[in-house]
Formats: sequence, structure tokens, C-alpha cells
Amino acid sequence: MRFGTTAIHAGQRPDPTTGAIMTPIFCTSTYVQEYPAVVKDGYDYSRGKNPTRTALQDNLAALEGGKHGICFASGLAAMHAVVSATCAPGDRVLAGDDLYGGSYRMFKRVFEPLGVTMVQVDTTDPAVVRGALDDAPTRLLWLETPTNPLLRVTDLAAVSSLAKAKGALVCCDNTFATPYLQRPLELGCDIVLHSATKYLGGHSDVVLGAVVLDDDSLAEKIAFIQFAVGGVPGPHDAFLVLRGTKTLHVRMQRHCENASAVADMLSHHPRVKAVHYPGLKSHPGHAVAARQMADFGGMISFELDGSVEDGMRFTTHTKVFSLAESLGGVESLIEHPPSMTHASIPAETRRAAGLADGLIRLSVGIEDVEDLIDDLEHAFAAL
Ligand SMILES: *Cc1c(COP(=O)(O)O)cnc(C)c1O
Repeated sequence: MRFGTTAIHAGQRPDPTTGAIMTPIFCTSTYVQEYPAVVKDGYDYSRGKNPTRTALQDNLAALEGGKHGICFASGLAAMHAVVSATCAPGDRVLAGDDLYGGSYRMFKRVFEPLGVTMVQVDTTDPAVVRGALDDAPTRLLWLETPTNPLLRVTDLAAVSSLAKAKGALVCCDNTFATPYLQRPLELGCDIVLHSATKYLGGHSDVVLGAVVLDDDSLAEKIAFIQFAVGGVPGPHDAFLVLRGTKTLHVRMQRHCENASAVADMLSHHPRVKAVHYPGLKSHPGHAVAARQMADFGGMISFELDGSVEDGMRFTTHTKVFSLAESLGGVESLIEHPPSMTHASIPAETRRAAGLADGLIRLSVGIEDVEDLIDDLEHAFAAL
């Protein structure tokens, strides 16, 4: 089956007792047993297994083209399970150099004290990855593409084959692209990670995480952590994401169309110094993105010609774009990374990493694009 049909149907069947077409929200902690330890299909306690969660796990596995889907209470809980299942004290992780802030914090403040070190490199250059893999044994290569907030693009097939040759596992955080645009397992990655809080849920109403992978024994380890540590999503949350994925293909098409039009308008604006969008030919990752993604996504960042204060003020002048962190919902959001998501980075380090004072990040929603463009024009005029 093709993507849209899979999005709507995978993992789900009409309820056998009533024919209800939608998967019920199974609000139950336990299941009645026929005889001690004789349970139906492994359902004995909802931390271990819940039918709404099972439907979502199977749906997400199908969308990523993987064998196993395993869901968690958040994207970061999913990441914690992946690192715990793959790394032991003394192991080294290689990660991209503009990691999601929460992922950076977990590596530095949760795993480094336990003896798992993390080294950041520019994964957009395969030669740099090759050199870093040659430097020291690496257990796990942790990738994000496109990245936040500069939308930098890593060639997943190229760096996965380098990692494989050195015996390292590869995990790709596919939150920004979604499986509609990019399927890392098909490109050679071992594990896909999602913050389903973003595009998969798509309506800014739920926090949930997921892992998808093919390898049976690694899947068993991650599922054991899901069960033994217990960072599971509740059935309401699983239902909300399951409802979200039914429209993923339609939403993503519109996110991409709108973002492309907004990027085009910004790249012609006199107050804009640079636009970071992989769909623009001027973007350094454009060729790789065109090869490994079906389209270029809904995230854009741009450099306003101005100070930190100008950047902050700009975000208060929009009416359709709401000033908020997070991304991937149907509604458009605007934020100023230097003072918000990336405020913990010292100014000099931030600038050296390419995050200009006037950097603005947009999560372009699926409203009418003319309204989005008018809204930004008004904000420029108000500066
Ligand atoms: C939001 C996000 C996460 C963390 O997910 P939560 O659901 O907030 O725990 C991880 N990676 C990326 C790229 C994200 O945007």
C-alpha cells in the first residue's frame, strides 16, 4: 500500500465486538485472565501492553517501513530508551553539532555521568564523520536532519554506510522530516526516533515519542526498557497521535507548499540577510535534501538584519504566527532562538555556530498562505 492509505489504515481494524471503525481509547490498567497467567494476546497490564498503543506502534512502524514500533511518553523518553539499550559505560556516541537542546542536555547531564561520552561533529560533511569514526571506537551515531534551527542536512545514506563499516549503530531523529518526507531505515539507518509531539500528532495537543527499527533483538531490548522503566504514553495520547497520522500526508503537503512560498517571499525581502530552507537552491544542503527527501518540510529560519532586540520585537508583531516554542502543528508558530530555545548557549558560541542575533524560526502551519505572507509583511513594516 502507498503512504496515504498506510497512514489511514495501518495497525487498525474495526472493533470486533461492535464494528466501531475508530480504534477505541482503551482506558484500562488491567485485563481479566481466563485462568492464572492465561492472558489474551499478551495483554496482562497496560504498562506492558495496551491495544490503543499497539495500534499506534503498528501504524508508525508501517509509516517508517520498519518491523517494530515502540512508543513512549515523550520524544526524550524514547531517546533515553534508545541510548540505554545501545550504550554501556565506556561507550562513545558521535552526534551532530546542532542537536536538539533536550537531546544535548540528556547526553551531557544524564549519560555522561554514567560513563557514556558524546562528541559533536559536523555530520553534514561525510569526510568529517569518517575522520571522527577513525579517531576512536564509536557505539552510536546520532543524527538529526534537517536540524534545528538552521535546517542543515546530513546525507543519511553516506554517513550510515561509514558508520556500518566501523560497527556503529545509527539513530536518526526524524522529527522534522516525518516519514512522509524521509525514511531513514531505507537509507541505511538502524533506528528512527520521533517526537510525535510535533508533526505526527500535528495539532499541538499531545506529547509522545516513538522508536521504529527492524532488528529483532534490539527491538526486544528497547521494548524491555519501555516495560521495565515504564515511560509509556497513556491510551488518550496514543489515540491523539493515531488520529494525527491519518492526515499526515495531506498536512505535510500543505506545510511544504506554504513553507516554500514563505521562504521565497523572505528571500526577496530587503530586511532579510539570509533564509535557511533546504528547498532553496542557495541552501548548502539542497542537493542532498532533494535526493533523500520527498519535499523540503515546513520549518524555516531566517536572519533579520538587526540586533537581538529587533529579532525579539519582530516576533511580537505577528498575529497569525503565534509566539511559542515547539513546532509541527497546523497553526503557524514563530520564535527567536537566541532568546528562547537556544538562550542557554553563550552569545559568542551561538554566533560562531551560525545563529545570528536576528535569527527567527518559523513553523509554517497549514493556514491560507496569503494570510501568512501578509502577517510577516506587517511585522516587517512594524519594525
Ligand atoms: C521536540 C523534539 C524532541 C523532544 O521530544 P519531546 O516529545 O518534547 O520529548 C526531540 N527531537 C526533536 C528534533 C524535537 O523537535
